[in-house]
Amino acid sequence: MNNPSRLDRLRDAGYKLTNARTVVLNVIETHEGHMTSAEILDAVASRDSSIGRASVFRTLDLLTRLAIIRPTYTAGSATPTYVLMPDGHHHHIVCVQCHQTIEFEDCGLGSLAERLEGEFGVKLTGHLLEFYGICGACSEAGVVDDEV
Ligand SMILES: [Zn+2]
Ligand SMILES: [Zn+2]
Ligand SMILES: [Zn+2]
Repeated sequence: MNNPSRLDRLRDAGYKLTNARTVVLNVIETHEGHMTSAEILDAVASRDSSIGRASVFRTLDLLTRLAIIRPTYTAGSATPTYVLMPDGHHHHIVCVQCHQTIEFEDCGLGSLAERLEGEFGVKLTGHLLEFYGICGACSEAGVVDDEV
């Protein structure tokens, strides 16, 4: 990995590396996959109980603005889970029946990104891609009601 570290990205964007920011980022980096804000709050509290809820949420907002993490809404839940964007992109296939979320790595969207950058004069830093459909298990179980 020759990306600058995420802490460097924070600092380069002009943010001080406060204890809350360092701990929240570390908690998410050392966890595989998605975390709910409740899980993040618990993990942060167990490392440093002096970090308050409000600064955890402010840090999550900041990391989201910098495209270091993304909130994702899955499984019909009203609260997001947060996921790191390791290479600036993250991909899901979500089953609309059982809400299973399948993750995949390779999206092949590089040429689309280049085209969009040229067309709109933007510098893209990442994307979150979700496909919706019916997973194999649900199709087999025949729970699909196509007469909606
Ligand atoms: Zn399913
Ligand atoms: Zn994911
Ligand atoms: Zn991608």
